[in-house]
Amino acid sequence: MKQSFEIQLFNTEKRAKEVLNASNGLVTLYTCGPTVYNFAHIGNFRTYVFEDLLRRTLKFFGLQVKQVMNLTDVDDKTIKGAIAQGISLDAFTQPFKEAFFQDLATLKIEKAEVYPAATDYIEPMIQMIQKLIEKGFAYQGQDGSVYYAIKKFPRYGCLSHLKLDELKAGASERVAADEYDKDHVSDFVLWKKYDPQRDGQIYWDSPFGPGRPGWHLECSAMAMQLLGETVDIHVGGVDNMFPHHENEIAQSEACSGKQFVRHWMHAEHLVVDGKKMSKSLGNVYKLQDLAAKGYTGTEIRYMLLQTHYKTQLNFTFEGLDAVRQSLKRFQDFIQRLQEIKGVANSGLITPVIDKTYNTFAKALADDLNISMALASLFDMIREVNALCDKGQVGEKEAAEILGFLQKVNQVLAIFSFEPRVEQIPPHLEEALQKRNQARQNKNWAEADQLRDFISSQGYIIEDSAKGARLKKIELGLS
Ligand SMILES: [Zn+2]
Repeated sequence: MKQSFEIQLFNTEKRAKEVLNASNGLVTLYTCGPTVYNFAHIGNFRTYVFEDLLRRTLKFFGLQVKQVMNLTDVDDKTIKGAIAQGISLDAFTQPFKEAFFQDLATLKIEKAEVYPAATDYIEPMIQMIQKLIEKGFAYQGQDGSVYYAIKKFPRYGCLSHLKLDELKAGASERVAADEYDKDHVSDFVLWKKYDPQRDGQIYWDSPFGPGRPGWHLECSAMAMQLLGETVDIHVGGVDNMFPHHENEIAQSEACSGKQFVRHWMHAEHLVVDGKKMSKSLGNVYKLQDLAAKGYTGTEIRYMLLQTHYKTQLNFTFEGLDAVRQSLKRFQDFIQRLQEIKGVANSGLITPVIDKTYNTFAKALADDLNISMALASLFDMIREVNALCDKGQVGEKEAAEILGFLQKVNQVLAIFSFEPRVEQIPPHLEEALQKRNQARQNKNWAEADQLRDFISSQGYIIEDSAKGARLKKIELGLS
């Protein structure tokens, strides 16, 4: 019997697990996206893979998901990059946007419903700032930039559980470095005034003068524009919790007067060999660095997926190699099932699948307990392999398990059900070409010699309408 499950997710704001209330069947999900001034690294992808697991899990439980992931294509770094190269902001960010989507595909991350670029939403951002000024939550500083007055928002700190006075005490270092003229050290910028020296020709006109929106505001405006004033789940990396998400709450709730987010979730950091990623240590890996070392997108995905999102993930190459072995166990199992013929029937497969489904689903419903979910699959492999060893599993039961794994793979996206493609060694491909040539030249003796050489290497030549091709001789067949 398959049970039904209540989904519980940890809510950062409450510091506790809470039942996800999705009575209308639709979950709105906002996920902070990349700033497209560079290629994303595995630390970023840890968060994106977690968000993908969340999204796929919600769908696994029959919910519909509307996910928005923003692309920050205007901020100090993108402007600086565009000016340094003497090109437009669009021309500068476009290749990084494309690379980002390529990387998402490599990691089998499902596409969000909307990827809004900040520069396409400048108008709603300006309107939001106007509203905040009208309501007394924002003011124009001496320097011409517009700031959010956090003192006006008593709930400020609700997410990170920081107190306003502590912020003041703890921020002394940043105060000294701060170039803005603000009422409170933690007041943050909503509209950054245009500075020709810094911004070149990149600015937008607004009622507050030329300039550009602040990063925190971008997310608030796009989330509310695309998902409504209250979002079901908002996710990001733990380093986004403060001040970014705290500021999003302040802006959005001051504007709408409604709760901005029902459920906040944050993915922990990723470290490499136990150390923080840093340029000086040379351990800031991008996907292409790992691909160059021979690792596949699926291997990297599994590596990022297998640690619970609230646990710090220690990325190591030994870990990646171990992942390769785990994946091989899964793939060997799948291949074994695909090759099963005959009518044997153990009668035990349906109960094994039901038990595995219940453990797997229960684990995911419990704040995405991925370790337990994966462990349930390895248990199943052991049990089913034992039955296969005894010849008790036939074609029909094998297909039943494969169907179950396909369902599970809608969440995990780490299995391949394609029949394995045989890699023909290059020297044999070459021998085959020479044999074809010899036959064309009616040099039968040489053609026969080459055929014998190929079969001595364990391959046979299959002549077909599409021409000759090599096939490995299966052991045990004659
Ligand atoms: Zn954001």
